Amino acid sequence: MRIDIITVLPEMLEAPMSTSIIGRTRAKGLLDLHIHNLRDYSTDKWKRVDDYPFGGEAGMVLQIEPIERAINALKAQRHYDEVIFTSPDGKTFDQPMANEMSLLENIIILCGHYKGIDYRVREHLITREISIGDYVLTGGELAAAVMTDAIARLLPGAIGDAESALSDTFQDNLLAPPIYTRPADYKGWRVPDVLLSGHAAKIEQWKMEQALERTERLRPDLLHK
Ligand code: SAH
Repeated sequence: MRIDIITVLPEMLEAPMSTSIIGRTRAKGLLDLHIHNLRDYSTDKWKRVDDYPFGGEAGMVLQIEPIERAINALKAQRHYDEVIFTSPDGKTFDQPMANEMSLLENIIILCGHYKGIDYRVREHLITREISIGDYVLTGGELAAAVMTDAIARLLPGAIGDAESALSDTFQDNLLAPPIYTRPADYKGWRVPDVLLSGHAAKIEQWKMEQALERTERLRPDLLHK
């Protein structure tokens, strides 16, 4: 899968996008990730990409021209399934969306900044708008990093044990059951006996009961989805 991120702050994405599982999925060639500096598409001699809003509001607005130039340069090279804009008023990102996006071939993620972007970008150049939650960030970079992380770990081969991604919280709309490692007894705090029993069917049943119990208690809304 290929992801192209367009941003005014590429340095904000470099570390998170080259560490741990994302770094490995890139090294293995599972994720072909490219970070583009929007300023490289500016024709202004100072490489400016923002301007004052019409109508006299506070804050600066990213201009349509460099954004269209960046998107078109990418589109001239390959077909893109989605051109995504990170936006607090977009549809809220969740696990089903990550699953669905992990099946796409090529996507562009455009990060807003400052007060936002010229609305005509959203009207004419974007196919999808995604928020990572009901709060306002300073820019779309962290949102793009969150989405890329959630997608990358789903790519086949990204996680050693393929089942691991499928048993995570939110897959099947259930929270994950509790998980433990050695020692089995730490200062009298014991791991549930069933997990030490070696009885596979009982362990499975316990995990399912725990997943249901935790979901009912902590996120009952998921059970009604
Ligand atoms: N004035 C805008 C907010 C601008 S915040 C408004 O009221 O909607 C600057 C940029 O950060 C946005 O353009 C967007 O790209 C990004 N951003 C902020 N919060 C976000 C969120 N919750 N999810 C995704 N992107 C977000």
